[in-house]
Amino acid sequence: MSDLLYHLNADDEITSVNEEWLAFAQANDEDACLPPQVLGRSLWEFIDDLETQHIYRQLHGRVRTRGKPVQVSFRCDAPERRRLLELRISAGAEQGLIYRVRTVRHQDRQPVPLLDPHLPRSERFVTMCGWCKRVAAPERGWLEVEDAVSALSLFAEPRPPQLTHGICDGCSRSLQQALTDDPVYPVLGRL
Ligand SMILES: [Zn+2]
Repeated sequence: MSDLLYHLNADDEITSVNEEWLAFAQANDEDACLPPQVLGRSLWEFIDDLETQHIYRQLHGRVRTRGKPVQVSFRCDAPERRRLLELRISAGAEQGLIYRVRTVRHQDRQPVPLLDPHLPRSERFVTMCGWCKRVAAPERGWLEVEDAVSALSLFAEPRPPQLTHGICDGCSRSLQQALTDDPVYPVLGRL
């Protein structure tokens, strides 16, 4: 698959996306990490978690002041597929930014209902790390989604819980460290 590309202006509004981006977003409408219908909107509308927003703002600041790209790999899973993506943010014209995303590798799996946005949800909430896609399990730490479903006994429930996105300790540490080092190439999430 070709690289997905989009451009941000100096105010972090999305000014253009390529055909590959549209095709990917349409084929993966369940996928919160690469939302469709982005043109003309601010990137920040798509990132709810404030800590994650703060990290992206730091990455942007770094690219804009140094003029050098940053790169980070993260998981962007679908119910039936694990995916490791690589994001490279580089400087564009007039303080704009260029986001380039490529798939490093992917693996098919048994579909995970917890990740299916079309299913009705219970009142319960679980937190998923937006970068490595692990799920917080009380007293067990952060687990791969299949392990979390088992640890939290989610099989037993008729409806999956609601998902909120945050950032786990490991990804937070890796990103903070990467922001102070050179070059910035953290890999968040294994595959
Ligand atoms: Zn994480």
